[in-house]
Amino acid sequence: MIGRPIVTQARSLDSMERTDNTVLESLKAQGLRVTPQRYAVYANLLGRTDHPTVDQLMTDLNQEFPISSQATVYNSLRTLLDVGLVREVLLEEGVSRYDANTEPHHHFQCQSCGAIEDIPWDTFPALDISQLRSGLVPERYEVTVLGQCDRCSSPG
Ligand SMILES: [Zn+2]
Ligand SMILES: [Zn+2]
Repeated sequence: MIGRPIVTQARSLDSMERTDNTVLESLKAQGLRVTPQRYAVYANLLGRTDHPTVDQLMTDLNQEFPISSQATVYNSLRTLLDVGLVREVLLEEGVSRYDANTEPHHHFQCQSCGAIEDIPWDTFPALDISQLRSGLVPERYEVTVLGQCDRCSSPG
């Protein structure tokens, strides 16, 4: 029976502990030194799906512990972006948002309140990017669907 309890144990961990482990393991797996700032920034991003701007991120982090200057948050973000744990999402001109979901996925953005949510990749059939004219070398694509979110589309 040796070996089996690991699975049971992992399942019994609550989601908070699982996040803690994910954060530590992911930072270490990328060869990063685990600093409180990197930890806080990555844990915060993993725990949300709203694609915050650096300002929103900082406001949130400073409510937990007032340690984060904008420069520290930027530096941590830059490091996380460089190793690919976090990606930058640009849906509006000049506004960088950050996403800890680095799996390929699409986005829905509400045109009224600006809310952004992930759309699973397999929601849509794949585009045939081989139809591009020759000379263009595709690397990746994603779809941004613009519209109204649940809150904004329901009257009252
Ligand atoms: Zn909305
Ligand atoms: Zn996303």
